[in-house]
Amino acid sequence: MSLLLTDRITGTEPPPRHADDETLRLECGVFGVWNVPDAAAITALGLHALQHRGQEACGISTFDGMGFHSEKHMGHVGDAFAGEDLVKRLPGHSAIGHTRYSTAGGSVIRNVQPMFADLVAGGIALAHNGNLTNFLHLRHKLVADGAIFQSTSDSEAILHLIARSKRGRVVDRFIDALWQIEGGYALIAITNKKMIGARDPLGIRPLVLGDLDGKPVLASETCALDMVGARFVRDVEHGEVVVIDEDGVRSLKPFPPTRARPCVFEYVYFARPDSVVNGRSVYDVRKRMGARLAQETAVNADVIVPVPDSGVPAALGYAHESGIPFEMGIIRNHYVGRTFIQPTQGVREFGVKMKHSPNRAALAGKRVVLIDDSIVRGTTSVKIVRMVRAAGAREVHLRSASPPILWPDFYGIDMPDRDKLLAAQKSLEEMTAFLEVDSLGFLSVDGLYWAMGAGQRDPAQPQFTDHYFTGDYPTRLLDREIAEGRNDPTERQLSFLVSA
Ligand code: AMP
Repeated sequence: MSLLLTDRITGTEPPPRHADDETLRLECGVFGVWNVPDAAAITALGLHALQHRGQEACGISTFDGMGFHSEKHMGHVGDAFAGEDLVKRLPGHSAIGHTRYSTAGGSVIRNVQPMFADLVAGGIALAHNGNLTNFLHLRHKLVADGAIFQSTSDSEAILHLIARSKRGRVVDRFIDALWQIEGGYALIAITNKKMIGARDPLGIRPLVLGDLDGKPVLASETCALDMVGARFVRDVEHGEVVVIDEDGVRSLKPFPPTRARPCVFEYVYFARPDSVVNGRSVYDVRKRMGARLAQETAVNADVIVPVPDSGVPAALGYAHESGIPFEMGIIRNHYVGRTFIQPTQGVREFGVKMKHSPNRAALAGKRVVLIDDSIVRGTTSVKIVRMVRAAGAREVHLRSASPPILWPDFYGIDMPDRDKLLAAQKSLEEMTAFLEVDSLGFLSVDGLYWAMGAGQRDPAQPQFTDHYFTGDYPTRLLDREIAEGRNDPTERQLSFLVSA
């Protein structure tokens, strides 16, 4: 038996955003390292590089040969896992970590990961990036079957499924669980003998394998490998399970072969620009988005100004393509978190002011093209446009380096329902008036595919998960169907793909 020896949890819970909102939509980063001294310290570093994937809470679990140790905290990695005593607090040669941002507020600390379970054969700690689209269905079945959930997180359902599997070996139990879950996921687990990584059948969420002086590392993004000095080995493939133990790294493919559909929003906004995701430099793709945007939405102007930081690479591409100078017309204050981090709309709006300041020297008297990576609710844009005008800009032309966002997400990107998505609610003309801009332009879906270097979008089998812009969801949405009365929750359905 390998029990949880230490379990430290700190933090206070923010108030729920919607009292009735039980499902948690997550944006997260995961990291894991196997068989190295000071595994917790390396994991803390790796998580630090993944901080942009979630700033609300973080956690690390280690295994020290005897038992597991775990710490979960609200807040940033640098605050939670600082201190020379970190390796004493979290001893062990294998570790996994998680950085997390949830958009629903209820019971936050209970949902912080990694999650731990004591199985018959020993303990397992699990870190999950992504979102299951059949979680409520699974939870309904599991609870009916006697499972006692400690959290409202969909990741806990995976642990219950592993625990209840009738198979003997932990990897088989793990795969048994994968067969029952649907949606987007990158998972890293450690047991007393192994580290296991898995990516959903379509590869919606990213996961990479690295090598740290001959020891395997798993991480959401390559920037975390760079941070710890690990060499990039390869992407974990869509639908692949990698099993790491003293025999090395083994690859299993438990699902029927399917064409990958990685999430395009990783390139638009979510991943760090210095990461290489599925073989593509995020920075290069963003610059190409900007260049194509310049071709599609050209306008006479004096300066190209990014909304920092996420709009910077696209603005560089736009400036280069248009020949109009790039200027830092907005200065970002780096000592506040991302706009979306604030759990309520009121605080979020306030957050925009705290985060960005106009730079008069670059704006006064100028015709300005403002570039952001995306427009979601429009909250950021309204504030920024006003700010830029107040600083003396003569004209403000807003450009989004991604197509209009029309549909919500269910796979681990925070994207609200249609009633809150600006482009889903208003025409281009109405948005132009609402945002108080002289003109407004979006990248086309064709342009996005061009920037990805993917040729034309294949409507029969799209190359990417791109429902934000197209409404074309890559899997069925069982929980949604049940909520809308289109499916019977008691029905036993284990097939995981609609379009495969
Ligand atoms: P909004 O103010 O709602 O229009 O949000 C747009 C801003 O939020 C842009 O500056 C984006 O860089 C950023 N953004 C876009 N998608 C997300 C997301 N899923 N999570 C957090 N921030 C986002």
